[in-house]
Amino acid sequence: MALAFEDLCSRFDKYLTRRTNNNDPQRGIIIIDKSAQETSLQRLAKEFRVNGTRWGGSIQRLAEAPLFIDSKASRCVQLADHIAYAVFRRYNAGDTNYFDVIAHRFDLTEGVVHGLAHKHKNQSICMCPACMSRRPTTISP
Ligand SMILES: [Zn+2]
Repeated sequence: MALAFEDLCSRFDKYLTRRTNNNDPQRGIIIIDKSAQETSLQRLAKEFRVNGTRWGGSIQRLAEAPLFIDSKASRCVQLADHIAYAVFRRYNAGDTNYFDVIAHRFDLTEGVVHGLAHKHKNQSICMCPACMSRRPTTISP
């Protein structure tokens, strides 16, 4: 949970920084379904803001501490649940039906899918969009 949250914070901050660098200054808010993890995630968010993440740089573009909300009261959180389910089905069961509908919507810059990460040891042979976009390309003669 801590690693996933750290990665999410870092990726979201870098996304907002890229927008700012492209003359579209933005700040963001992370909204999370209410859970027992609230206290620890709030503490981690504060730590990332002060000390940075393991990937460098402190989190600067978040306007607020993470907000926790009951998913039953928020359509945005329900949408996030659907996206998470589509990603889960893609990577856990090999079912791409839902994922293929949203795959083109992940943050993508210069051919690298920044908004989707696949954490495993076989990234050099994995055929998922996240791994393939990070693989160095070779041009054959
Ligand atoms: Zn992959």
